Amino acid sequence: MNVTTLPKPPRVGLVSLGCPKALVDSERIMTKLRAEGYAMSPDYAGADVVLVNTCGFLDSAKAESLEAIGEAIAENGRVVVTGCMGKEADLIRERFPGVLAVTGPQQYEEVVAAVHEAAPPVPSPFVDLVPEAGLKLTPRHYSYVKISEGCNHRCAFCIIPSLRGDLVSRRPDAILREAEKLVAAGTKELLVISQDTSAYGVDLKHASWPWKNGQVRAHMTELAGELGKLGAWVRLHYVYPYPHVDRVIPLMAEGLVLPYLDIPFQHASPKVLRAMRRPANDAKVLQRIREWRAQVPDLAIRSSFVVGFPGETEEDFDYLLSWLEEAQLDRVGAFKFEPVEGAAANALPDPVPEDLKQERFDRVMGLSARISAAKLARKVGSTIDVLIDVIDAESGGATGRSKADAPEIDGEVHLRDAGGLAPGDIVVVRVEDADEHDLYGVPA
Ligand code: SF4
Repeated sequence: MNVTTLPKPPRVGLVSLGCPKALVDSERIMTKLRAEGYAMSPDYAGADVVLVNTCGFLDSAKAESLEAIGEAIAENGRVVVTGCMGKEADLIRERFPGVLAVTGPQQYEEVVAAVHEAAPPVPSPFVDLVPEAGLKLTPRHYSYVKISEGCNHRCAFCIIPSLRGDLVSRRPDAILREAEKLVAAGTKELLVISQDTSAYGVDLKHASWPWKNGQVRAHMTELAGELGKLGAWVRLHYVYPYPHVDRVIPLMAEGLVLPYLDIPFQHASPKVLRAMRRPANDAKVLQRIREWRAQVPDLAIRSSFVVGFPGETEEDFDYLLSWLEEAQLDRVGAFKFEPVEGAAANALPDPVPEDLKQERFDRVMGLSARISAAKLARKVGSTIDVLIDVIDAESGGATGRSKADAPEIDGEVHLRDAGGLAPGDIVVVRVEDADEHDLYGVPA
């Protein structure tokens, strides 16, 4: 018997840092490399080349990226750098002259070419191992779907537009095809991401493309509606409260889109928002939140806030606290303002001292924890749908998320008895207990 010995495929190690958008970039790069016959290496020692996908959003993220590059150089030595920090190639080369190549965000072709150079692909007719939905770094049952790249705004604290450029939307039919494949491959939850989801399609002048037996417009509400027909949970992230967002609320009432909005408000004081140059800075937002909740009572709103922005006075901060009391947001994340190299905000006068930033941060987090605890306590005794993420074989329990919880950033639902459940199952749970962030219950 003749046995064909397959050539050993080159192995690529991956260190992926940063936000879900960067994770999606890593997935695309690895999908392409896997399609060409590369194997993934779980450790430095087994890798022919290590790819470091960096984040350059904050100075602390840059420091983490530089540390990761240094570690990959020390452990392996053959390193290709990509991602947001690729814009600072000179800095990287100065610190790590041995780096093989530096490419920027979304430069897929360049990254792949650099990997080809560092570890040439081995052609093999037997290598065709890529599942149709591509390779994913998230569990099979949820997937991030990036609908656009870049941003047309110029918020004073943010350097994303200078790193990633102006808004470039993907065609709606391409997004829907990708989502359809993901659902066919087992995805139960589609997490829509971008820098500014509400602005989707502005650059395409909201044109239409053929889809199924009709047309689909490059517009957030139409795209969300079509995604909702694919049979998975659809969760919208990074939504700015432009007026047309009101039109996505009926889709939630119909059950096509999850009753969840991730809106990065960043502050409430009109003065601070002006200084931040935030988009959709609408004084009537509280009123709109009330109207949204009247239509969709179980709507969960998640947001993030920056405290200690230059010029933020005690009055501005008190305004933010009373706004939060009024808005009763379900999930809140806060950040202490940090000057990022290249951000316009660095030039603003009246910096807030570090100890005051910390005090304000603690007060925002304390208030939001109280609000969250009270809201979650009201769910005790009710039944909710839970998507199972993890089964704990040792305790016999499971952890999942309700419709109000996005992975990684929100709370969890802990089940003390997993029964015959598996990750990706959606189960009805009776809530028995709650704390500041999580719920506890049993399958109903
Ligand atoms: S909306 Fe503002 S914070 Fe968000 S990516 Fe654009 S410029 Fe940055």
